Amino acid sequence: MNYQKIAYQNVKSLFQKTRQEKMAAFEKRKNSIHESNPEIAEIDKEIISNLSTFTRLALSGGSASLENAKKKDKELKEKRKSLLKSMNLPEDYLDLKYNCDKCSDYGFIGAETCQCFKEELKKEEIRLLKNAAKAMENTFSAFDLNYYRKDHLVAEEISEYDYMTFVKSRAEEFCRTLTQNKKGIIFAGNTGTGKTFLSKCVYNCLVEQGEDVVFDYAQNLFDKTEKEKYSNIGYEYTDKIMNCSLLIIDDLGSEMVTPFSTAMLYNILNIRQEKGLLNLITTNLEPDGLMKKYENRIVSRLMGYHDLLLFKGRDIRQLI
Ligand SMILES: [Zn+2]
Repeated sequence: MNYQKIAYQNVKSLFQKTRQEKMAAFEKRKNSIHESNPEIAEIDKEIISNLSTFTRLALSGGSASLENAKKKDKELKEKRKSLLKSMNLPEDYLDLKYNCDKCSDYGFIGAETCQCFKEELKKEEIRLLKNAAKAMENTFSAFDLNYYRKDHLVAEEISEYDYMTFVKSRAEEFCRTLTQNKKGIIFAGNTGTGKTFLSKCVYNCLVEQGEDVVFDYAQNLFDKTEKEKYSNIGYEYTDKIMNCSLLIIDDLGSEMVTPFSTAMLYNILNIRQEKGLLNLITTNLEPDGLMKKYENRIVSRLMGYHDLLLFKGRDIRQLI
């Protein structure tokens, strides 16, 4: 996202809107006064016609008449002030007041950007960046169920929204009961249905609880373990993924399947199961896809030692 561009557009339309609203309020105020006090209406007409004389004279350079026009403007305004006062209104009631006198709230002075616009732009950029940072904090409260449809059934009488509400609460429960859980979880479903987001929510929630959690993309996990195996740099990462209290493997099935990755995946599942440690796995593959991709001994450990939660819905990334 180009924050500077978006901030610029936002501030520009904010200025336009503010100015339009201010002008509309001013017109309304003026019209109602003119209706109730025709003398003021007459004065305002004179002010405007004097102003056009004033402008014409200023351009042609007739200094004596220019002074007269200025004087007349002042007199008319004074008269208007006293009339407004007599109506118990503030004397500047019919003056159009700007937040910024330099640019009359346009935000620009000719082609130049006014200081007031620049300041507002800075604030808007910060606001946008803060919002974006917040959205990246994957927390359960930030997991927006409104992306899921209430009018779309995923089973008889169960809407996509209701179903995904259940999936979310199941993930929250998984965090609450981590040490008592008997099985891990597989989040399976199409791209962009929220699997990675929710798995990061689990990660953040458990890290906050002080759990030792590792989150990694499947391909990274196999690359790193392979590197450790063949390059004599020690087994720090491999030890970590074998012993952490929860291992989150994101996007299993997207990696290139090699004899090494197959053996490593089997080892991870087997060793962690023997230690009573759980995994959370996200995958675009549903069970038949997993069966096609992996050996039986792997699939049976995936299916036997994990609860399967299917994610339903459209690709959220295309909705944002
Ligand atoms: Zn300004």
